[in-house]
Amino acid sequence: MTQQVTHQGLDEAVRQSPKKWVYLFSEGNATMRNLLGGKGAGVSEMTNAGLPVPPGFTITTEACNAYYEHQKQFPLGTWDQVLAALHIIETQTGKGFGSRENPLLVSVRSGAKFSMPGMMDTVLNLGINDETVQGLIALTNDERFAYDAYRRFIQMFSKIVLDTDPHDFELVLEHYKNNAGVLTDADIPASDLKQIVGEFKQIAERQSGEPFPTDVFQQLHKAIEAVFSSWNNKRAIDYRNFNRIPHNLGTAVNIQSMVFGNMGNTSGTGVAFTRNPATGEKVLYGEYLLNAQGEDVVAGIRTPSPISRLQQDLPGVYEQFKEIANRLEQHYHDIQDLEFTVEQGRLYMLQTRSAKRNAGAAVKVAVDMVEEGLITPEEAVKRVEPSQVYQLLLPRFEDASKRRAEAEGRLLAKGLNASPGAAYGKAIFDADRAEALGKAGTPVVLVRPETSPDDVHGMLVARGILTARGGATSHAAVVARGLGLPCVAGCEEIRVHEAEHLFRVVGSDVVIHEGEDISIDGATGEVFAGMIKTVEADFANETDLKKLLDWADMFRHLGVWANADYPRDAQRAVAFGAQGIGLCRTEHMFMEPERLPIVQKMILAPTYEERQSALDQLLPFQRSDFKGIFEAMVNPRTGEGYPVVIRLIDPPLHEFLPSYEDLLVEVTRLETLGGHEAELKEKTALLEAIGAIREMNPMLGLRGCRLGLTFPEINVMQTRAILEAAAELAAQGKKLHPKIMIPLVGHVNELKEVRRQLQTVADEIAEKSGGRIDYKFGTMIELPRAALTADKIAREADFFSFGTNDLTQTTFGFSRDDAEGKFLLHYVDGLDVPGLKDKVKILPSNPFQTLDREGVGQLIQMAVEKGRSVNPHLELGICGEHGGDPDSIEFCSEIGLDYVSCSPFRVPIARLAAAQAALSHAEKDR
Ligand code: PEP
Ligand code: MG
Repeated sequence: MTQQVTHQGLDEAVRQSPKKWVYLFSEGNATMRNLLGGKGAGVSEMTNAGLPVPPGFTITTEACNAYYEHQKQFPLGTWDQVLAALHIIETQTGKGFGSRENPLLVSVRSGAKFSMPGMMDTVLNLGINDETVQGLIALTNDERFAYDAYRRFIQMFSKIVLDTDPHDFELVLEHYKNNAGVLTDADIPASDLKQIVGEFKQIAERQSGEPFPTDVFQQLHKAIEAVFSSWNNKRAIDYRNFNRIPHNLGTAVNIQSMVFGNMGNTSGTGVAFTRNPATGEKVLYGEYLLNAQGEDVVAGIRTPSPISRLQQDLPGVYEQFKEIANRLEQHYHDIQDLEFTVEQGRLYMLQTRSAKRNAGAAVKVAVDMVEEGLITPEEAVKRVEPSQVYQLLLPRFEDASKRRAEAEGRLLAKGLNASPGAAYGKAIFDADRAEALGKAGTPVVLVRPETSPDDVHGMLVARGILTARGGATSHAAVVARGLGLPCVAGCEEIRVHEAEHLFRVVGSDVVIHEGEDISIDGATGEVFAGMIKTVEADFANETDLKKLLDWADMFRHLGVWANADYPRDAQRAVAFGAQGIGLCRTEHMFMEPERLPIVQKMILAPTYEERQSALDQLLPFQRSDFKGIFEAMVNPRTGEGYPVVIRLIDPPLHEFLPSYEDLLVEVTRLETLGGHEAELKEKTALLEAIGAIREMNPMLGLRGCRLGLTFPEINVMQTRAILEAAAELAAQGKKLHPKIMIPLVGHVNELKEVRRQLQTVADEIAEKSGGRIDYKFGTMIELPRAALTADKIAREADFFSFGTNDLTQTTFGFSRDDAEGKFLLHYVDGLDVPGLKDKVKILPSNPFQTLDREGVGQLIQMAVEKGRSVNPHLELGICGEHGGDPDSIEFCSEIGLDYVSCSPFRVPIARLAAAQAALSHAEKDR
């Protein structure tokens, strides 16, 4: 009866409001993540499944967004709906908010659509003041518990809502612990806690400039505001930028009646995963603390027990928890990350969400779940983030280097293997300094006693993380796994002295100062002094990953090719699953030490004859280079070769010559020295020659096909080398498909003429080989004019390959060499503008990494349509850096390119991203 009436209270409040801003847990479900956030949707689903969830309600993400739209005012009706919902919770629990006799305490937690662990704020035990604490004492008959809850509340509320410095509170706690001669917070006696509460209130008042709020409704109002505001704190923004989570989603706020894990030794709290999120192994994995509140586990202040121990501590609870965990995994068909609290022997579930897992676990679990019949191969393919695949190809320590480190006694300590991968770098003890150094390109390992959300900016740029405290679910471990960073956590064999910028190894006199090299292995938990070289992972043994990628191949339409300049790159690309070479940049071959002098001679040759003679010397080198690449791309069993696109010389010639400035300095030095006539003469001549071909804007100058038109004999030599290499292999029965690519075409006449010149040479070699080589001529589309006139160009080309590095450079007018260092990253991170509090973002992402669909993408799409309109057999691919970027791959799939080409290491990512793109189009079409 009462329940009915109070429900009506909420319905009535909603009717009086422009929108329903508040949902009881019993009103939501798992599909409402957009509106209720992941946490809200998860607890709603659990509530409706009849699991033991403390009653509560969720304020929607829409309310958060409206709060920002209304200059940080609650949207109309929100507060009334909150009060009505709170009243329902009072009825359900039989308690009263602010009641002196039977007080209801609540938690106020953030919860966005996508989990952002630890990035936003939470306040626990809200609803305590000097009066309600008396009720708590009377009810529990436990003064210590009540005052402990009170002091925790003041501490948390002050930090989160009043924005005070947490350090002062810690000092008070330390002081009382020392005086009482106890080690942990849990041992501080009740009489001290009562005094601590008084001192905490004074600190809060001193720091915030106003009395600590005693009105519980005021506490609630302020806490909700603080959680809304935490959506836009720096660490949350950094995290969203890094994970490409949109900034306009907003967070929901969950208000839930408190249950207490700190009510003695039949109470406790913990977090657990239904499978091991570091390895994917199918065992319940996690940890808990008896007589503690939730934040104690995550904060890593006390070291928790493994979940398996719960079987001995509280056997009934353990069995029930195991059963619920299993049920939730079966229900969601995914590993769940669970938070629970036991209050005096009674289990409560506080959260379930899909667990963050590292790459190895993501792949293993996806494959295992297909084999267990829980999900389909399609679902498995959709579930693994392409960037996670990359982590499986992460570095590990080079064996010899590690053995040496061991032999030299450089193993310092062992901690928890919290997130795999190996890294070395300078030990840095502060997130700000780590950020500055990391951004400047210095390898950094961030070393902290434990990390907190305030350290995230340092973690984002670090190569690895080392913490002295905290378990497998501590902040450091969770964030590092999400970022794919190696992490050793809970390394209690070291003591970190932040103020002195050093750590000491317990039981020895070894000290590591800031800036010294250390190496960590997140797979074993080992920490070494000095640098240990790292090596790449062994793809051949990644059987689960291979299985997943084979499934991906069943769904994708895009071909995945690789950019490879050397036979060893080509071999690696094939091993990773590449089906062709989309770009072989031949100029890299010119840079090899024994060839560079010949190349320089060729460039500086005053006559055609001398140039030709240098080219004649280069021809055999190039022929053997190309032979090597073709051979790597031939299936040894069938003799069938994958397509290989070889690009004719592209860069401006000065790249092969000594720097003009250095040479000028040298000539001046020789002149002032005197007595070096011969050398001076030679260097002066070289200086003049280089001076003669100097350009103001070489990247817009004599390069690409312009170079080939100016010195046709270079192109002729390269074409000869390509086709003669192919002819030699064709004579051995191999079927080759060389594609000769002409770069930087802007006008069709450029292509027409280069092709005319080379066709004669090609026909001659092909004829000699008895017509056994199937070669093609094509061009790169990397200038806006080429894209705009693609219909004309396509008449002269068998294929197009989009050179999106240059196309981005020339479309935006951003120098690909300088823009990122000068201004472009500020465009993405946001500019500081005088008079504005928030940074102004100019671009959503770095267009050299993620294709700018709106501008560059439009040009590509236009070129695709125009090209195909005149040449339906035109083959279309992309070979700029974007070919390995999942978002850009999705675009390529959408506009119907034939293939993407990327660096060999990115081939697995591209296979998966291409499959996901195809599956998502299919879904949209349905
Ligand atoms: C491009 O411009 O996208 C490209 C692949 O060529 P390069 O990077 O060699 O200029
Ligand atoms: Mg280019």
